[in-house]
Amino acid sequence: MNPLRQQDPDIWNAIELEAERQRDGLELIASENYTSYAVMQAAGSVLTNKYAEGYPGRRYYGGCEHVDVVEQLAIDRAKQLFGAEFANVQPHSGSQANTAVYLSCLDHGDTVMGLDLAQGGHLTHGMRLNISGILYNFVSYGVDRETHRLDFDQIASLAREHKPKLIVAGASAYPREIPHDKFAEIANEVGAKLMVDMAHYAGLVAAKIHNSPVPVADYVTTTTHKTLRGPRGGLILSKEEHGKLINRNVFPGTQGGPLMHVIAGKAVCFGEGLQDDYLQYSQSVVDNAKALAETLMGTGLQLVSGGTDNHLMLVDVTSLGLGGKRAEAVLDECGITVNMNMIPFDERKPMDPSGIRIGTPALTTRGMGTDEMQRVGNWIHKALSNADDASLHQQIRAEIKEMTNGFPVPADRHAVAEA
Ligand code: PLP
Repeated sequence: MNPLRQQDPDIWNAIELEAERQRDGLELIASENYTSYAVMQAAGSVLTNKYAEGYPGRRYYGGCEHVDVVEQLAIDRAKQLFGAEFANVQPHSGSQANTAVYLSCLDHGDTVMGLDLAQGGHLTHGMRLNISGILYNFVSYGVDRETHRLDFDQIASLAREHKPKLIVAGASAYPREIPHDKFAEIANEVGAKLMVDMAHYAGLVAAKIHNSPVPVADYVTTTTHKTLRGPRGGLILSKEEHGKLINRNVFPGTQGGPLMHVIAGKAVCFGEGLQDDYLQYSQSVVDNAKALAETLMGTGLQLVSGGTDNHLMLVDVTSLGLGGKRAEAVLDECGITVNMNMIPFDERKPMDPSGIRIGTPALTTRGMGTDEMQRVGNWIHKALSNADDASLHQQIRAEIKEMTNGFPVPADRHAVAEA
């Protein structure tokens, strides 16, 4: 008998239904992925029982000899994967990683520059209700109205005007490669430090498909669960000279005990990132995104910036007479999971914006390629063009289930291998 099922059938049932949702549908949320079974094993291990405040070799608890090995491996592999001098693998999340960096280089009220949330930035890049916006004076930069690419003339002139202590680069919804060296040039000119939050495209950086911020930024932060394909969590990289302050601002600055089971999952993920097949995977993520973008544009849909260089795209759905909220709901009915998203200079509201954000990391992990992306793009267009046709949505859902059966998720691949 399954112990979880027996002890807590409500939770077991919800987990089973979620597994089914992940298995039968098309997971197109740009910030999600399927970890390997090995990552899930590490993250679901006995390490969840262990307190280990402090760092390897310097803990405030006994019995840390084995978790020390785990954390040191995670640190060493993160440094190797990204060519960094220093790594802190403890942040529970990307948001906490960013907060720890802010505490390391800013004082309350200092001026910082970050990408506007409505133009692709993240909450932690100065949103008014986030701790970043509460503690610091964030000045937002944006993208060009015509090209939807980062507007470096505007970024440079805002930097000269506001003299920020820190410039934050990186984005949650930007479909193009970010030229980190241009940010570094501007930061150098105005005497600011540079932090790059590569959460979305860290996997592409690891695979050397996207240029790396590590050589040019003072601080690099990331989540570990998006393109990188690890467990949910955060990571900070920097030059050795910043290491001591970063460690102090993660623990005890912003966290207590590290989640050692998650750190074990991060170590496994970084190990996977160092393998050749990870490079092939990452290239396929980008190839798939291009194929999906081309299919969608072929149906007449407008994409922000006219396409994608990375793992995601932003689709303006208003030409179909829909807002992003309705588009998300219609696609959900078909078993296609995306999220509504603002597009640059959006005239609609955040709770019902003009766009949806679509990403390919998860479907690529299932082994889907460019042929499947064409089918996916056509389903999306067909569903959105017939938003009121519930029976069509059910038909698409059935077709999708049939296709996804041929591309098992990692846990199912493991189950088949074991049998
Ligand atoms: N930074 C960026 C660019 C993100 O897109 C995200 C999450 O979506 C985060 C930070 C925050 O990560 P978390 O949800 O782990 O706090």
